[in-house]
Amino acid sequence: MRLTVLGRSPARPNPGEACAGYLVEGGGARLLVDIGPGIVAQLLLRHHPSELDAVVISHMHADHMLDLVTLRYVYPWRRLTRDERLRIVLPPGSADQLLYLARGVGGANHFEDAFRLGEHDGVTPLSFGSLTLTPRETQHYIPCWGFRAEADGRRLAYTADTAPCPGLNDLADGADLLLSEATLRSLDEDAQPPEPRGHLTPAEAGAAARDGRAGRLVLTHLPVDDAGVEWFRSDAAAAFGRDVEIAEPSKTYEI
Ligand SMILES: [Zn+2]
Ligand SMILES: [Zn+2]
Repeated sequence: MRLTVLGRSPARPNPGEACAGYLVEGGGARLLVDIGPGIVAQLLLRHHPSELDAVVISHMHADHMLDLVTLRYVYPWRRLTRDERLRIVLPPGSADQLLYLARGVGGANHFEDAFRLGEHDGVTPLSFGSLTLTPRETQHYIPCWGFRAEADGRRLAYTADTAPCPGLNDLADGADLLLSEATLRSLDEDAQPPEPRGHLTPAEAGAAARDGRAGRLVLTHLPVDDAGVEWFRSDAAAAFGRDVEIAEPSKTYEI
């Protein structure tokens, strides 16, 4: 199985970097998981979207889905046949939100003419060839699902956006590679009690990887500022007890 990072920015983009978007390949399938701002330009360096089996979206925050608007312009400006349309897998209960977005950018059919839109149910594994993608709900400011991808006897887990929670622990459990968000530079940046939290510090990502006995931990969705990223790596590694990698834009990880 292979993971390619197309973008690692949090909602506020790092200069020159796209927001969330990851190519997952294995079991004869190729998926794009999340499609934040800037991802389509990165995707087109490698593939036409017709070479994807589906685009799968973790949650409806803009930094994970807004480039669906852009993706539509890659296709001819007419209603495509069913076979021509790309499958888009949305989180439960979000199809209506996409309709509002379509109206906002010019027309109710903006997405439907080019895409086959559907929702997953939050629990049932999805199959693409012999790749299985299992959603697991995480704790975030809005409903959000991470995914466990399994193919060729290997397991990749993607946390999407999450605070420490049972869903995160399930995702980390036994992952050959855990692709974890590490958005927080400190807990001050998260929601404060009594509001529920929604993101992780790098140390919390490292602890989840340790407790789940993950094989590798790759941190993503992190702000790159003047402080650099090395401290993310060292904080996470101290908790994990092993080396940690920082997701690099355009890099492919063999799993
Ligand atoms: Zn996010
Ligand atoms: Zn989010």
